[in-house]
Amino acid sequence: MHVHIINISYSLFIYMTAQCPICDAPVALQSNVEVSEVVNCTDCGSRVVVESIASSRVMLAQAPNIEEDWGE
Ligand SMILES: [Zn+2]
Repeated sequence: MHVHIINISYSLFIYMTAQCPICDAPVALQSNVEVSEVVNCTDCGSRVVVESIASSRVMLAQAPNIEEDWGE
């Protein structure tokens, strides 16, 4: 008999969440997310960019709405 116990807190080590600046929904991020990385809000579909990461708190900002090559 197999019993699976899913520890919710364990997933927090893999994913972080940040608040969408447009719709305030939590946006799931991988724990290795980096500043200036662009992600899509799964709730409103907006493009948001990672503005800053402080310890486990990630701040998001609305990404510029331009379809342009940013260059590197
Ligand atoms: Zn959103």
